[in-house]
Amino acid sequence: VSSRAEKVEGLLAERELDALLVTSLVQVRWLTGFTGSSAMAVVGPGVHRFLTDFRYLTQSAEEVGPEWEREIAPDLLAQAAKGLPQEGAHRLGFDDAVMSVRDHARLRELAPKAVELVPAAGLIDGLRAIKDAGEQEKVRAAARLADAALEEVLGRGLAGRTERDVALDLEMTMRRMGAQAASFPPIVAAGAHGALPHAQPRAVEIPRGTLVVIDWGAVLDGYASDGTRTFATGEPDPRDREVYELVRRAQEEALAALRPGLTGREVDAVARAIIDGAGHAEHFGHGLGHGVGLEIHEGPRLSRQSEDRLAAGMVVTVEPGVYVPNAVGVRIEDLVIVGEDGPEVVSSLPKELRVVE
Ligand code: ZN
Ligand code: ZN
Repeated sequence: VSSRAEKVEGLLAERELDALLVTSLVQVRWLTGFTGSSAMAVVGPGVHRFLTDFRYLTQSAEEVGPEWEREIAPDLLAQAAKGLPQEGAHRLGFDDAVMSVRDHARLRELAPKAVELVPAAGLIDGLRAIKDAGEQEKVRAAARLADAALEEVLGRGLAGRTERDVALDLEMTMRRMGAQAASFPPIVAAGAHGALPHAQPRAVEIPRGTLVVIDWGAVLDGYASDGTRTFATGEPDPRDREVYELVRRAQEEALAALRPGLTGREVDAVARAIIDGAGHAEHFGHGLGHGVGLEIHEGPRLSRQSEDRLAAGMVVTVEPGVYVPNAVGVRIEDLVIVGEDGPEVVSSLPKELRVVE
């Protein structure tokens, strides 16, 4: 049995569950290695069922290890229910943050009476938050590719091109270099447009002497990268430079504070105190960062509310920003592996304000 299934089994005992029904594809992938678009799993002591449909007969045989009993069926939920024990009390966990109300009702109808459905959200995602050595290497490789792609695109200049053109160029360059996809459509936002944290690239030319926020990432071997740099297209005005240096200081202080044992709230507070202290409290409206892995946004959260506790092996972003409406936006984001001996910054691009014309 793979060590990941064993880890799940250990948690089942703690929660007095007999088995867990896994219906999220990303959780199934983490557990079994299957990369297709239709699958479920049931895992418990002595139970390792993997379910998919006919389209993935061959692919699942290649990807899913022999410790899993493969079942091919047209209706996965019905198939999962059919294999549950008919007699004796059986507590079956399911992820209530993932399963739809409709599927839950259907499962209740299909499952034997003896089966009790128990909400168990977060059980696998909690395990997924800590990346093993192989996963960490995949994240590093994705970040390396993304950084190399941006460098290539910057070599073609920023000023005089549209935001859309730069974003498309970046996405195509990552794909050409071997990325499976962009982690998300790249954000390229110049001047006041950069004050929108999730700006859509426009068909508008990037002027000289302005700041440009670029937020981008690549997916490689299933694992995502995420990073942001803010560039200047010529000497920016002093106000913009001041905002830039503030965000950079907040970012570097938060990085320096990052260590296992802290909550997401505590790390967020380090950057927030610096930005608040400079009078920009209302201009930093999002959290400091988030976990990254098979998903671009996953646990743990680094935010004002987050009680998630950092542990070695977690991969998180540290991305403070200052967004002054109708004026200027700056964000600086690094991808970081939390370690016992301090954080390993995976992002390679320098952070002093760089002029790219
Ligand atoms: Zn980002
Ligand atoms: Zn991010």
